[in-house]
This record gives sequence, C-alpha cells and structure tokens, in this order.
Amino acid sequence: MGIATTNPANGDVLKTFEPLSDRDLEAKLDLAQQTFLNYRTVPMQQKASWLNRAAEILEAERDRFGKTMTLEMGKPLKAAIAEVEKCASVCRYYAENAPQLLADVSVQTDASHSFIRYQPLGIILAVMPWNFPLWQVFRFAAPALMAGNVGLLKHASNVPQSALAIEEILHRAGFPTGTFQTLLIGADQVAAIVADDRVKAATLTGSEPAGISLASTAGKHLKKVVLELGGSDPFIVMPSADLETAISTAVTARMINNGQSCIAAKRFILADAIADEFIDRLVEKYRALKIGDPLLPDTDIGPLATPGILKDLDQQVKMSVQQGAKVLIGGEPLSDRPGNFYPPTILSEIPAGCLAEHEEFFGPVALLFRVPDIDAAIRRANDSPFGLGASAWTTNQQERDRFIEEIEAGSVFINGMVKSDVRLPFGGIKRSGYGRELGKEGIHEFVNIKTIWEK
Ligand code: NDP
Repeated sequence: MGIATTNPANGDVLKTFEPLSDRDLEAKLDLAQQTFLNYRTVPMQQKASWLNRAAEILEAERDRFGKTMTLEMGKPLKAAIAEVEKCASVCRYYAENAPQLLADVSVQTDASHSFIRYQPLGIILAVMPWNFPLWQVFRFAAPALMAGNVGLLKHASNVPQSALAIEEILHRAGFPTGTFQTLLIGADQVAAIVADDRVKAATLTGSEPAGISLASTAGKHLKKVVLELGGSDPFIVMPSADLETAISTAVTARMINNGQSCIAAKRFILADAIADEFIDRLVEKYRALKIGDPLLPDTDIGPLATPGILKDLDQQVKMSVQQGAKVLIGGEPLSDRPGNFYPPTILSEIPAGCLAEHEEFFGPVALLFRVPDIDAAIRRANDSPFGLGASAWTTNQQERDRFIEEIEAGSVFINGMVKSDVRLPFGGIKRSGYGRELGKEGIHEFVNIKTIWEK
C-alpha cells in the first residue's frame, strides 16, 4: 500500500495520496533553505509566541486531531485526545524554557571572556513512525524550531492526514511557510534527502532496519543523527513491592497504545515469592479489557495499526509457542471481525533460546519470566539487545539502588511505569538507539555548540 489512510478497525481505505515528485521535493527543499536564512534570526520571544499559539490550537481542536489519529492507526480515541494535549504541553515547555536552555553560558578560562553559544544548524529531517503520530513529531519540532532550525517531516505512510495536520497547526500558529513542511514520500526517497547538502541532520523513530539505513546514509555524508528505535523494556516486581499498584500499572504499561509503544513494559520479571499471585491477577485484569471500535469511549484496546504489524506479532507468538512457551490468555488474532484485532495475550514458561527472550513484541503481548532473586532479575533485565527503559518495583532501599546503578537502559523508573516527560531526557542505549529527545539534552542535539574565546 502506498501513502494512504486505511482504517485499521475495518480495513476501509479512506484517502490515498500521490508521493511527491522529485521536482516537488526539490521545491520544498529550496523553500526550507530560503526560509532558514531568515528564520534563524527570528527573536526567541516571537518563536515562543508562535509555539504557544500552536499549543492553543492543539487544545482547542483536540477532538478533531485525536479522531484523525484514531482513524489512521487505531488507538482508542481517549488516548488520542490525551496525546494531542501532551503535544500542547511540549510546545509550552519549550516556548517557556528554550530562551534559558539556549542562552550563552560563560566559562572561566585564560581568555578575558569565554563562553558557549548555541546556534541553529539548518534543515533537520525527521523520519517518524505511526504509533504516536502527533507526539513523536511535536517532541522533535518544538525544540528544533525554538533553536532556529527548520524541519522537514517524512511521516509513516499510513498516517498522512496526521502529518498534514501538523504542518497545518504550525502554519496557522504563525510559523512562516517553509519553517516546517510535511513531505508525502515513500521510505525509498529518504536517502537522497539525507544526502542533500542543504540538510544538516536527521532524527528517526522507528524500527532497527530503518534506523540502520538512515544512519548509514548519514554516516556516508557525515551528518548528525538521533535514533529512537525499539525496546523490550523489563518490568521487575520484587517481593516487597506494593502488588496491587504494580499489577494495575502492569496492565497500563503493556497495553498502552494497543501495545505498540517502544517504552511499553514487555518483559515482566517476577520474583518467585509473588509470581503466582501476580500472574493470576494479571490474567484476570487482561480478561476484563474491552476490545473493539477505538472511537467508542469505553474501548480499552483497538486494532493494531496495520495488517503487517498483526501478521508479525501473530508469527512471533506462534513461533514462541512452538519453541515451548505457554499461552495463559489470548494467543490468536480475532478472526470473528474485520480489522487488525489481536487480543491481550500472556506468554509464560518461556524457555531458554526462545525468540521471546530477545525480540520486541509490538502489540498487546506480555512475556513472563520468573526469577529467584535480585541478581537473577538484573541479569534477566540486561539480557536483551535493547536498552530503552526499565521499571522496577520494590520498597527495599538496597534493591532500589542496585536497579538504578546496574540496569542497562536509557531510563529507570522505580515504582512507576516508564513514560516520557517533557522535562526529562528520553532515549536509549544498545540497539534502542542513541541521542536524546526532550528536556535540556533534547534541545542541544540539533545545534552548533559554539565555543567563543576572546582576549
Ligand atoms: P518502520 O521503522 O519501518 O517505520 C518508521 C518510519 O521509518 C516510517 O516513516 C517509515 O516510512 C520509515 N522508514 C522505513 N524504512 C526506512 C528506510 N529504509 N529509510 C528511511 N526511512 C524508512 O516501522 P514499521 O512501521 O515497519 O514497524 C515495524 C517495527 O518497528 C515495529 O514492529 C516496531 O518493532 C518498530 N517500531 C518502533 C517504534 C518506536 O516507537 N520506537 C515505532 C514504530 C515501529 P514508511 O512508513 O513509508 O515505510
């Protein structure tokens, strides 16, 4: 399928788009470059007022933008509306904080005066995924635009109307035409853009193969890249944990966005002492979840975003079962209805060597592992190619300290689920990627950190 909106709840193709021709693409690149030459000098206060206006538009029209996302990728409407509100919050955060985060920093040296100045780089390309169609883009765009860069967006091919809505919001907010443009193009048109001299850097959120492909081209042309790739985050529960809170959080942490989130809890690592009770209650809570039309207010789980995601997940589960894993609930796509529906599923007794130990499951499938003690819990948590986030549940101070120190991940949350917060850096290590978004670190990724030395 090319660039199109296809309702994942029933397979209806709602709208299709032609990819940009090379000529159209060149015109957009040229506009971006011309715009940058003026935009880089726009005062902070002006950019902040445009970004605050974007926040107002997002909030005023949250229902419309939420519905667009739900129709394109299937997340429950209430979650889509919450996502629009979060986009407003990242706009407000950078509108308020960028002036201070990008202010000159004096450093005492042998100079009469030495300091650091942050300057924009130019055109930044963002290659973005469908799972949080607005959020993933706004968390890039808000800091990048405040820093004086201009943005080009290549969004996932199944969320074109979300992509166009973002361009519309920023334009209506007052950002000059050319400051942020959506490119309706296929993945095969990305390499040429990365290679173009006018494009200074790129950021990609998505799968490992996409990240590798973009980073290889960027490497060949010596361009900075930020990559936010997959994850198989551990959710560790120790005997001292508040079990009730841990179990209800485990449901949200795995099921968020119909299970399609890079920072969803995917591997549940349970101390033997509490494992039986935890599992029984988790199964019960999964059974109570309502699967159905994501536009209805009481739906907990909608369809997966595309038939391809459904097929991949189904194969991973089937293969894991062949390799010896046991299904406690779910385990088969819902064939009684159209759309890409997959039920909440739990796999336990996953044997050594099973693919479920190391692969990312991008859907509502929880993987259970039992461990005798904290040493085994940390070993199991770190036995993954990924290193995005980790959640650990304990009231024991020594255990808490060990999780913080020893877990290999970009973030560790104690007694809470992994989530992004505009004030905190977000990103991974190992095969989850590199670089950071959000917070102070996020706005410093795409700037020239210029050293000034004066005598
Ligand atoms: P992809 O990585 O294929 O898509 C993400 C973005 O990258 C899309 O805009 C896509 O464009 C683009 N893209 C794909 N291939 C290339 C390439 N070679 N060069 C440049 N850009 C490219 O994700 P999928 O939708 O296929 O999902 C597959 C898996 O990726 C999931 O199962 C999950 O494991 C992971 N994923 C992780 C996400 C995260 O949040 N970290 C988000 C989404 C997926 P196009 O749509 O046109 O192909």
